[in-house]
Amino acid sequence: MKTSQLFRHSRLRLAVWYTLVMGVILSVSGLGIYRSLVQSNWKAMEREIESIAGTLHDSLEPMLPPSENPTTVLKGILPELCLVGQTCHSNPSLIERHTIGISDRNTYYIRLFNHQRKLLAFSPNQPDNLSQTLNPEPWQTIKSNGIRYHQFTIILHSSDTHDLGINSSWGYLQLGRNLKPFDAEVKRLQVIFILGFPFVLGLVVISSWWLSGLAMQPIYQSYQQQQQFTANAAHELRSPLASLLATIEAILRIPPSQPQDLNKMLHTLERQGRRLSYLVTDLLLLTSLEGQSSSKGFQSCCLNDLVSDLIEEFSELATVANIDLIEQIPDEEIDVLGDESQLYRLVSNLMANAIQYTPNGGEVVVSLKTKENMALITIKDTRIGISREEQKRIFERFYRVDSDRNRKTGGTGLGLAIAQAIAHHHQGYITIQSQLGKGSLFTIYLPRAK
Ligand code: ADP
Repeated sequence: MKTSQLFRHSRLRLAVWYTLVMGVILSVSGLGIYRSLVQSNWKAMEREIESIAGTLHDSLEPMLPPSENPTTVLKGILPELCLVGQTCHSNPSLIERHTIGISDRNTYYIRLFNHQRKLLAFSPNQPDNLSQTLNPEPWQTIKSNGIRYHQFTIILHSSDTHDLGINSSWGYLQLGRNLKPFDAEVKRLQVIFILGFPFVLGLVVISSWWLSGLAMQPIYQSYQQQQQFTANAAHELRSPLASLLATIEAILRIPPSQPQDLNKMLHTLERQGRRLSYLVTDLLLLTSLEGQSSSKGFQSCCLNDLVSDLIEEFSELATVANIDLIEQIPDEEIDVLGDESQLYRLVSNLMANAIQYTPNGGEVVVSLKTKENMALITIKDTRIGISREEQKRIFERFYRVDSDRNRKTGGTGLGLAIAQAIAHHHQGYITIQSQLGKGSLFTIYLPRAK
């Protein structure tokens, strides 16, 4: 599979998974919201029915007639109700009185039953086909002519049953509510959720595609860098290997009568083998530095000693190159926590570059100082300098400002990459200030040991 295809495939899979997970989360939370909305509406409606039934109950009880056959008295108390067995004249003022301002009076109906659960009186707007005998369940939901009703039943006691302390009921009050507005509200919620879900899911699909693209970007970049690194490494290894093989072929063709030629060629072989070995060592070091994240094995290192050792080591090279190598080390001891050999390599890479890229008669100044809780090692050289454009790239692996010049001087383009990896491994960093034709100043920042 091609790389771009592989990444597109992975992006698609990631987007599908995002969409699936988000879809499930959305459906579950949507259903939860829908259920809690319906339930809270239902509870509010039941509270409203209960409170109206309670008000009616409290106003009715003191007026209830003691008679076994109270229909005539009832007609006097509740003239707006229809009495069972008599013609009914609609005059809905009672319900209106108690429900005004709360709901439409047509929404509610009441029914009165005697203690034998026989219907005595009812509102004219009660649903059709209701039973004449009471079902004593407190809450009931019924359906009539395709409309749902929810009704609440409450026991009534007349004033004398109360006064005499008799525990028997006078009868029952039933208050019912038309569920049409409630069902319409539920339907409205269902429509919102059913239409809203595909729309939101569409947004999720788009954002998933975009997010998966964002997530893949650093992986893709690192993959490309890795590929570039492999290609560069192979290229760097190929040249010394090719010349090594050519030298070996030439040696094989030399007649044994010319041992002095053989000696020269063996020296070339050794040089090329060494170069290969350095390259492989550098590559391994870079890889191991990138794999390490802990500071295990770090110990206190005195930078004063490290810098003066390196000055001593490079002084001969500087003298040969006719370069003035100046050291500025303070008396105060400056320590950092780290791997001494790695720190040695870090500073020596920068010093070697400074000497290498400073022409004859130039000057290289290496100084050590502190700034707040950081230790600073600065390496300043003269003349060549690095342009602004190149400064951005010189820390890349295998990058050389001038490949021909560097090849001649033996540079692989890994020196600064290794230096930066070591600095990062020690929670430090390297900065560069440089001007073309004037010189460069590299500063290594390392956290001081406490
Ligand atoms: P190399 O091993 O080839 O020197 P480096 O990673 O050390 O590779 O450096 C990368 C490039 O940065 C080099 O090709 C060199 O041209 C440039 N460079 C590094 N240090 C200096 C310096 N002090 N002055 C000028 N150029 C420098």
